[in-house]
Amino acid sequence: MDNPSVHPLIDRHTHLEGALDPAWVRRESDRRGLGVPASLEELWSGQAVPFAGFIEAFLFGAALLDSRAAVREATLAVARRTQAAGGLGFDLWTSPHFLVVHRGQIQLDAFWRGLEEGLSEIRTWGLHACVVLDAVNHFGPKHGQAVLDLALPELPAFVKGFSTGGLEGCPFRDWAPVFDRARAAGLRIAAHAGENGPGSNVRDAVIEGGVSRIVHGIRADEATLDLLAERGIPVDVCPSSNRSLASDVVPHPLPRMLLAGVRCALGTDDPGVIPCDMGTEVEAVRDMGLDDIALARLRQNGAEDAWCLAD
Ligand SMILES: [Zn+2]
Repeated sequence: MDNPSVHPLIDRHTHLEGALDPAWVRRESDRRGLGVPASLEELWSGQAVPFAGFIEAFLFGAALLDSRAAVREATLAVARRTQAAGGLGFDLWTSPHFLVVHRGQIQLDAFWRGLEEGLSEIRTWGLHACVVLDAVNHFGPKHGQAVLDLALPELPAFVKGFSTGGLEGCPFRDWAPVFDRARAAGLRIAAHAGENGPGSNVRDAVIEGGVSRIVHGIRADEATLDLLAERGIPVDVCPSSNRSLASDVVPHPLPRMLLAGVRCALGTDDPGVIPCDMGTEVEAVRDMGLDDIALARLRQNGAEDAWCLAD
């Protein structure tokens, strides 16, 4: 059996906008005279809310990222949570186009500088991190091209990937030209698939979209799991997030995915909204009946396929 301690623990999937420190969100809300929405209070206290409530809570936090200092603080919040759980790094999804263009709440330069300052500081803590651009699937490929138009001209070196997220509302074959352009610019390609959309989206993302990594993938059928295993496609699995946002998928398919040979690893997704850390995710895996060998495999996959540790 692999000794898990030889592989660094990596949070393989977390969103900057969804990983804010709740105490900071409360302080900022008070300072700005804003009331924290009931949906966010409910999520913080561990209650389930409808998907629309999650979006409201997520967007409330995202609206606070309107300065270089706030983005730096948000980056440090991810790092503190990771480090407190014994983690050594994270792959960080974020949506600059949403904050800079769609909401118009921050300049792109200030956004990148906030991230750069945060990432530089956590490197001195011994942590590894990289950034993945997250485009909104249901806004469609035109939006995806706009994300690239915004980000590619002066892309910081810490941006390693491009991904779709949000609602799986647009076929992946339509996203293929966007993925091709991002790949040509040197980015790795991922997609949230088989989370809020059908399991067939996972196969479509791989076959028609040509993505090299799947986020969630929990609705994939057995044939698709075989495909993922054959191709060695990494899959980021986030048990706490799935329990809240894909609560109909029971029992959680992670044991089946591992049995099929899929290269699964663990992530926290939105730990500032749905409270969790890498420690709770490991516990969730134990609660699924998985043993130390499975946990070692998840940890090994988590490190070997992490973009924050890649060249
Ligand atoms: Zn996600």
